[in-house]
Amino acid sequence: GDKRLEELNVEDTTCGYCAVGCRFDLYSDGEEILAARPTAEEDAPVNGISTCVKGKFSYDFVNSDDRLTSPLVRDENGAFREATWDEALSRVAEGLGAIKDEHGGEALSVIASSKATNEDNYLMGKFARQVLGTNSVDNCNRLCHSSTVAGLARTYGYGAASITTEDLELADCILLTGSNTTEAHPVLATRIKQNVRDGADLLVFDPREVQIAEYATQYSRVKPGYDAVWINGITRYIVNNDLHDESFVAERTTGFEDVKEAVQEFTPERVEEVTGVPPEEIAAAAETVAAADACVFGWTLGLTEHSHGTENVMAMANLAAITGNLGKPGAGVSPFRGQNNVQGGGGDMGPLPDNFPGYQDIADDEIRAKFEDAWDCDISPEYGYYTTQMFLAADDDDVRGMYIIGENAALSEPGVNHAEDVLRDLEFLVVQDLFVNETAQYADVVLPACSFVEKTGTFTNTDRTVQMVKQVMEPKGDSRPDWKILQDLANRMGREWDYDSSAEIMEEVSSLTPLYGGVSHERVDGEGGLQWPCWDEDHPGTERLYTEAFNTENGKADLQAVGYSEPAEIPDERYPFTLTTGRVLYQYHTGTMTNREAGIRQYSPNNFVEIHPETAAELGVESGELVTIESRNGEIAVPAQVTDRVGPENLFVPIHFADSAVNRLTDEEHLDPAAATPEFKVSAVRVRPYEGK
Ligand code: SF4
Repeated sequence: GDKRLEELNVEDTTCGYCAVGCRFDLYSDGEEILAARPTAEEDAPVNGISTCVKGKFSYDFVNSDDRLTSPLVRDENGAFREATWDEALSRVAEGLGAIKDEHGGEALSVIASSKATNEDNYLMGKFARQVLGTNSVDNCNRLCHSSTVAGLARTYGYGAASITTEDLELADCILLTGSNTTEAHPVLATRIKQNVRDGADLLVFDPREVQIAEYATQYSRVKPGYDAVWINGITRYIVNNDLHDESFVAERTTGFEDVKEAVQEFTPERVEEVTGVPPEEIAAAAETVAAADACVFGWTLGLTEHSHGTENVMAMANLAAITGNLGKPGAGVSPFRGQNNVQGGGGDMGPLPDNFPGYQDIADDEIRAKFEDAWDCDISPEYGYYTTQMFLAADDDDVRGMYIIGENAALSEPGVNHAEDVLRDLEFLVVQDLFVNETAQYADVVLPACSFVEKTGTFTNTDRTVQMVKQVMEPKGDSRPDWKILQDLANRMGREWDYDSSAEIMEEVSSLTPLYGGVSHERVDGEGGLQWPCWDEDHPGTERLYTEAFNTENGKADLQAVGYSEPAEIPDERYPFTLTTGRVLYQYHTGTMTNREAGIRQYSPNNFVEIHPETAAELGVESGELVTIESRNGEIAVPAQVTDRVGPENLFVPIHFADSAVNRLTDEEHLDPAAATPEFKVSAVRVRPYEGK
């Protein structure tokens, strides 16, 4: 605009796209976002002055024409009409209340939002348990890193990255797997590339030769679905050649002998046969990791979105521990979290079926009593349903009503043909979002929430840093911050909530959550972020986990023997290809935000499938031509992109496009037994040239 920047509102805030947690100053004239500029470097611990295309330019969605500006309810013909907050909230209170009265609170479930603030999410968990009387509250972490959380919690104690972001630059070696870092976590990729330029080794194991592999000192193509096999192969090489860190193993771990025994079956020949990685590559990677003074093990969803993702993560946790790569600068495990606030809002704040905030187990009597007392309600010790289980439970009417906040389940759930049926058949569905997304099409009531530029609170990024999010413009139309909507609803449903600000909510969080014991808005703002655990007001926060002890009963890492496992769907004659899913740089998740950006649509307008040149030649298709991909669950038609980035037996389709949603092909029943994460990364499919309809 014409206005000079100094005349505008400006706030230092945290990016609302990915969990890198970049900070920058946002400028607004009160009605729209006009610019994002670097903030003072000391206030931007993760990114300094860099940001990526999304953080810098992607704000059109805030003022998009189809932004929801008023509540919607169904009229007598079943169409949406605008309603007052009063009417909409009454309908919600009645709809949810009726199911609760008739079938008990357990018949209701809540999907909380990893896009929303910590304060919003704390209240979503509290609302589910206190107001609705259900433990079935979960969020999108179930679809991505819940196997990371389960695997790391079991071995080390905390389900989170042990490193601080700077360690990506301090490491001598980085082993990356299942991470398209350049596209999904751009600013982290920049820091990794810088370190490689300075001489660090980068080992990339991935079914796709993703862009970061161009910088790798070693790239190994792996067959999707067998990660624990090649990881155990590396561990075997290390222990059999006495390259492990003996004193670390002796002093800081238990279970080493079991692991050593369990990895013996993963001989070089077997690893090659199962994963396609030749013995010399396993040996080279093992030598490099063992020789490094400090190594970071980084991964994203390629490791976790499997029916045995938790085992994959534990295999990686074993490798990091036996090489002594924990609790020191430049070393550790780093699951790169996806959504801006999935670590905080999706995990730490406890909108989870099994945990209260700070990973406090709901089955623990003492802990449950603390929350029953604080929230003045009874809470069942029985775990509720995980997100993926909610959709299966709805088939048997064990879930009858849902409250879905900032989550586009109709596209993001595995097996969306099934998810659509569930959403359509629910007795009552409330959707709270910025847009009438694909999920809202099935709602009885839609409540307009506001985005991160219109509210104040905190996000917790991928390295456990709690950072401020500040309001720079007024909520659009009649939209409201999630916490205010929840407060109104709680009060209509017989409770007395009386928060004046999100800062007050954080006070309640810290009083009940030891991990966040010293976290307050005042400190987070004043100190430019705080990394948990932060036990009390005098505690400075924790850069790196496990410098002295692991968060286990005896303080030692509890190594877990991991054997052979395979994906639920194995390619066969009918479905000979393995499909994996993932992201592209310009887009974000189901595209609800980014597909509203004119600039982004220009670069990334359409869905596609990556097909290896040999496969394309066999099919007789060229780039740009439509192909039909079919699994046991459904089919989609997408244009081919012929590339050797994927192997001849693999296909890759991104997750961002509603018109040919790749989750029509994935399966809703193949879940990790410990974490209930779906197997997005392996579906057996067949492919043929599109024949039209
Ligand atoms: Fe935002 Fe992530 Fe890009 Fe940083 S890297 S600007 S946090 S989307």
